[in-house]
Amino acid sequence: MEQKKRVCIIEAGITGLAACKYLLEREFQPMVFEADRSIGGLWKSTPASTRLQTTRWDYQFSDFPWPEKVTEPSLDSKQVMEYLDSYAQRFGLNRHVRFGEKVEGIEYVGVGEEEMEAWHLWTRTGDAFGGGRRGVWHVIVRQDKDGAIERWIFSKFTESYLRKTIPIPKHSFFRGIAAGLLAVLPEHFYNKVEEGSIILKPSKTFEFRKNGVLTEGDVTTIKTDLVIYATGFKGDQKLGNIFISLWFQKVVAGTKDMIVPLYRECIHPQIPQMAIIAYSMSISNLYTSEIRARWLACFIDDGFKLPSKREMEKNIIEWDKYYKTYYGNSIHTWYNDQLCKDMRCNLRRKKIFFVDLFIPYGPTDYVGLELKK
Ligand SMILES: Cc1cc2nc3c(=O)[nH]c(=O)nc-3n(C[C@H](O)[C@H](O)[C@H](O)COP(=O)(O)OP(=O)(O)OC[C@H]3O[C@@H](n4cnc5c(N)ncnc54)[C@H](O)[C@@H]3O)c2cc1C
Repeated sequence: MEQKKRVCIIEAGITGLAACKYLLEREFQPMVFEADRSIGGLWKSTPASTRLQTTRWDYQFSDFPWPEKVTEPSLDSKQVMEYLDSYAQRFGLNRHVRFGEKVEGIEYVGVGEEEMEAWHLWTRTGDAFGGGRRGVWHVIVRQDKDGAIERWIFSKFTESYLRKTIPIPKHSFFRGIAAGLLAVLPEHFYNKVEEGSIILKPSKTFEFRKNGVLTEGDVTTIKTDLVIYATGFKGDQKLGNIFISLWFQKVVAGTKDMIVPLYRECIHPQIPQMAIIAYSMSISNLYTSEIRARWLACFIDDGFKLPSKREMEKNIIEWDKYYKTYYGNSIHTWYNDQLCKDMRCNLRRKKIFFVDLFIPYGPTDYVGLELKK
């Protein structure tokens, strides 16, 4: 029997873990590169006081509920880490992770840019591996222990990114939310802004003074006890920087006034044999990442075909308009319906008709989704 393909995953946070789990289920060989020494992504390094902004019911894998002893709705980072550790253990994920190996760059080798642009179908053949010929990704990895550089060759890989932001974004709001540049603020945040105990100050430059900070264009020092650099991340730049090819760097983020052009928020029509799962975020990112990881695993396993590149681009433009008009939690449920349709799964996930009409969908509604081939 032909051995299933090796798939590269960059990172072992919630997204990489979900991608690894669903690829293993379909008997692929996932290989996860994680710059850090353990799984968990940002949760392993947040201060102990950091709590989930999402309730635990929305922040859980569909087939792995929180243990019964956990009863509080809002959990702290230690509890999240314990949960992720037991998830990794339950599905045997750690042994697929190469810890302390940072991906420094990726390069698509074997096909020129002009040829790629002329393809009518993604990856030339429309399937995940481009018919198994020519194009392969070279993944350049730096090892933490001795700084040695390795070059790995893959025919398909998956990538995920994290971004968060400040409350006064300068860029397009919708591009911000689509890129995960969305913050859920703590309770009474704006009351504190109104009473003046938190001061929000957009400024390109500033100076520290003896008893506070002086921001650009101001003449008086703002007296402060604490300064928080809420500079956020430039998600689209970070996304571009991983590519060696200047062309991919340019096309990956699309244009400034649109969401990042990813079909089903995963596949860039111009970038072959690659998917980006966690670029788009919602109020519950674990839920969003998990369902995309399942969609991707199903696609890679020949579960469905992608439309032509032109149709994908058209779909992205329509999604961009829809997103800007209807942004909210229900739009994610609507989007999950599209993913379910692609996977040929039942969209109505709740057993009782009226419950389906009136009770919002959450992660556990998607348990047992995939139709195995
Ligand atoms: C303080 C805080 C609170 C949050 N609260 C919530 C919440 O309540 N609900 C919610 O839905 N979301 C929340 N989020 C969003 C959060 O980002 C996601 O829920 C989730 O943790 C993202 O997981 P991830 O795997 O996509 O990325 P991350 O958790 O960011 O993991 C990224 C991983 O990638 C690794 N890495 C990075 N670059 C490379 C490279 N080049 N090579 C190899 N490895 C690399 C890093 O070491 C890291 O382990 C919060 C975020 C923050 C910062």
